[in-house]
Formats: sequence, C-alpha cells, structure tokens
Amino acid sequence: MRSTFFVTDACAGCGACIKTCPEKAIQPAPRGYPSPLLILEGRCSGCAECAEVCPVSACVELLLEEE
Ligand code: SF4
Ligand code: SF4
Repeated sequence: MRSTFFVTDACAGCGACIKTCPEKAIQPAPRGYPSPLLILEGRCSGCAECAEVCPVSACVELLLEEE
C-alpha cells in the first residue's frame, strides 16, 4: 500500500509544515479546495515531518490503493 500525506481543513495556516517539508511538497491550495494547503503527491516522500510540526494535527497520512 502506498501512502501520501494531506492537509485537512483543521489547518490553522501557521506555515510550519511548508517550511519543514524537505521536498517542498506543500503548497497553498487553489480556491475551492477543501483545505488551505495541498501536498503534491508526486513529491511527498512520506517522511511525516509535516505531521510532527503541525500544532493542530492537520497533516495526516493517507493510504492509497495500488492501481
Ligand atoms: S510527509 Fe514529508 S515529504 Fe510529505 S509533505 Fe510531509 S514533510 Fe513533505
Ligand atoms: S503546520 Fe498544520 S496548521 Fe500549520 S500550515 Fe501546516 S497544516 Fe496548517
């Protein structure tokens, strides 16, 4: 099972995860997206550093079905 991370709508916009991500995978989300930030699946290495720094536990792991 592959996994990636995503940002939920609990995000408080502090920016800590953006600064922490070693892959620069976290970016502001476009208007209409359900959460303020999005994580580029192709860049995310699954290191979980964003989840460790997030004060509101808004960065969470997402398991992906194999295709
Ligand atoms: S798990 Fe790691 S690589 Fe993926 S978005 Fe979080 S900090 Fe970046
Ligand atoms: S660290 Fe958490 S609260 Fe801060 S910007 Fe990232 S997801 Fe949002």
